Amino acid sequence: MKYKIGSCKNCRAENVRLVQSHIIPEFLCRDGRDLKDKRYEADYASNKWRVIQSGIKERFLCDLCEKKFGEVDRYASKVFKLSGPNDPQIKIEPMGENPDINTKLERWTGIDFKKCQRFVFSVLQRMSLSGLDKPEPLLYSDELTKMLDIYRDEKGLDDSTYPILISRLTAGTNFQTGAVAPVRLTAEGDNALKMNLLCLASVHFRGGGYLFQAVIKVIRASMDYRLAIEHFKLRSNGQIVIADQPFTNTLLFQVSVAMSRGLQGPNQR
Ligand SMILES: [Zn+2]
Repeated sequence: MKYKIGSCKNCRAENVRLVQSHIIPEFLCRDGRDLKDKRYEADYASNKWRVIQSGIKERFLCDLCEKKFGEVDRYASKVFKLSGPNDPQIKIEPMGENPDINTKLERWTGIDFKKCQRFVFSVLQRMSLSGLDKPEPLLYSDELTKMLDIYRDEKGLDDSTYPILISRLTAGTNFQTGAVAPVRLTAEGDNALKMNLLCLASVHFRGGGYLFQAVIKVIRASMDYRLAIEHFKLRSNGQIVIADQPFTNTLLFQVSVAMSRGLQGPNQR
């Protein structure tokens, strides 16, 4: 059967045809298709990582909702390209580099903040609504509700409840491309103390050569940490500081390594 009948998890319409939806939008998977680097995606249903060809899909949205998410993706697909943004509104200003840590900083201006925020939030919503975020929920219901309120409000620009950080993965390194479905990472106890935090929760996903991060909860952060978020976050005036970094430097990579021990390769199925 090509489709199934059920309730749409987004608009709650009942007895509707549910179409197959990507969790990570297809445009973020496409850029990596021709490269040697294999694409992995966290498969929450089996709590394993698997090699994917075209991304994890699930039937949980009606046709109308799937189209709405597609519209949200359209803007992001122009901005987050492996070769850089394809939008004349966006200006890029180099901010120097640090060769020791292989990092280059750029300030991007002219981003449509609302569209960009909706895109990042929509990927998190798709993950939450799909029910694939097991065993741990990606967003708890109060977080999802608050995020949906921000998502739906066209006027109240809010860049601080769930700050969004975006980095570009260094070209020419392993793992520049590939997609990883949203994963919730928390730092508590010793790890959090190292960062001068009581608790940090953030959601990370990557695709198309970019790493997207939404900070969900920060409890008792040092001034340095708060300043770092202020410096790097996507701002409501359409500005963001983007750092180029190797994927191996990121928290998501550390988790990926741990999870990939349970990876099902094509030969092990
Ligand atoms: Zn719907």
